[in-house]
Amino acid sequence: MTNNGPTPEHRPRVIIIGGGFGGLQAARSLARAPVDVLLIDRNNYHGFWPLLYQVATAGIEPEQIAAPIRAIIRRMPNIKFMMAVVESVDRQRREVHTDRGVFPYDQLIVAPGSATNFFGLHNVQEQSIELKDLPDALALRNHIIAKFEQAVSEPDPDRRQQLLTFVVVGGGPTGVELSGAIAELIGYVLRKDYPTLDPRAMRIVLVEAADRILLAFPPTLSRRAQRKLEKFGVDVRLNTSVVDYVDEALLLKDGTSLATQTLIWAAGIQGAPLGATLTPSLQRGGRVAVTPELHLPDDPQVWVIGDLAYLTGADGKPYPQLATVAMQQGRLVAKNVLRQLQNLPLQRFRYIDKGSMATVGRRSAVARIWGLNWSGPIAWFLWLAVHLFYVIGFRNRVLVLINWAYNYFTYDRGSRALIGGAPLPAVNKPSITGAAEPASLTERDWGA
Ligand SMILES: Cc1cc2nc3c(=O)[nH]c(=O)nc-3n(C[C@H](O)[C@H](O)[C@H](O)COP(=O)(O)OP(=O)(O)OC[C@H]3O[C@@H](n4cnc5c(N)ncnc54)[C@H](O)[C@@H]3O)c2cc1C
Repeated sequence: MTNNGPTPEHRPRVIIIGGGFGGLQAARSLARAPVDVLLIDRNNYHGFWPLLYQVATAGIEPEQIAAPIRAIIRRMPNIKFMMAVVESVDRQRREVHTDRGVFPYDQLIVAPGSATNFFGLHNVQEQSIELKDLPDALALRNHIIAKFEQAVSEPDPDRRQQLLTFVVVGGGPTGVELSGAIAELIGYVLRKDYPTLDPRAMRIVLVEAADRILLAFPPTLSRRAQRKLEKFGVDVRLNTSVVDYVDEALLLKDGTSLATQTLIWAAGIQGAPLGATLTPSLQRGGRVAVTPELHLPDDPQVWVIGDLAYLTGADGKPYPQLATVAMQQGRLVAKNVLRQLQNLPLQRFRYIDKGSMATVGRRSAVARIWGLNWSGPIAWFLWLAVHLFYVIGFRNRVLVLINWAYNYFTYDRGSRALIGGAPLPAVNKPSITGAAEPASLTERDWGA
């Protein structure tokens, strides 16, 4: 496809890269406006990432947080969708280059989100599990269950301990919610599923480099969240940095190590790689600087929003990489695109911070809403209500609610089937002829 440039015959063509929180909001806000919109995403669904950790811990099914984009835009005649990977943007020619062709634009909204930041730790990058998309969550769920299946037939107690040690790095909301949910999954469900395994061998460690978890929250809430996690059995290690991950051992800066086959990396994010094709001078964290009106400083037809955009607020700090920021920017960018096409003055972005919240586990959450601190069951109910409200689609909302109710009242979880996973590695037989540990199930126990 070639770029013929804007002609009087066609309406302005707006391409939106990314159907996530920012991009989808921009598309919805442009519905029925006098522009033609092409929304491009590498997935055919909009992912509701705040509940991703619940998919990873068998709390809800993947489809319940994946809303098909085509269904969302069905009644928006001026919006088209294409599933494609955007490879680069040619700002000179005003083209978006994808694995499905080249598409010209008059206005471009770039909202590809972020990628995991491994801070140059190559072994960690290659061997850890990240939590950024649904395949990651499914891989983690399968991995946790597979480690339990392996542990059952592992006769060596040290190796069994290693199989049952789950390390989460990063004490932000994702790391906290995930470690709390793994503790619940193990404590309420897997301990019962695997009665031959010694619960004392099951460990969840949360590693955080700073002196407290949940740095974006007030210190009192950080302390409360930490206490709750510890009550659920999570070993919280503060002031602890990761140096490397070698031979299934996580090496820490203080010289100690943690033997584990499960390293979950939730320690940081950086702007999506696509940012580098927009500008050679990226800001801290690989983000792209934008004007307060949300376009590139040297290109008013290219707008960047969401996790990739770098813009400082009144306090001089960059806006946080949050769904709420992305959605508010999505609304404003749509308005500004239309204002620019009508030669009206553009509006500046002003973030309305309604607060932030994180769950810690069953009936427990922390929240800072409208300047007030909340914790415990009230915060947890608030968290449930807010997240349910934002899940896209009535069907998904009902299914998520049913799953939550089921999990809450039965202390059970749904999906724990290992479908399509890799076969378990061969059993590590004991080197000495000594008896197998009673916790494990070996050929000998079965009389073979
Ligand atoms: C596990 C997790 C939990 C979170 N919890 C919260 C929370 O509780 N509250 C909160 O406010 N925020 C939370 N966030 C952060 C929030 O999800 C992000 O800030 C938000 O998604 C950013 O919106 P975005 O539109 O910039 O990117 P995204 O919503 O990530 O959307 C980016 C889209 O672009 C697509 N894409 C990327 N690259 C390409 C490409 N090259 N070609 C085509 N398509 C591409 C992706 O498939 C994706 O659909 C969480 C994030 C994660 C990962």
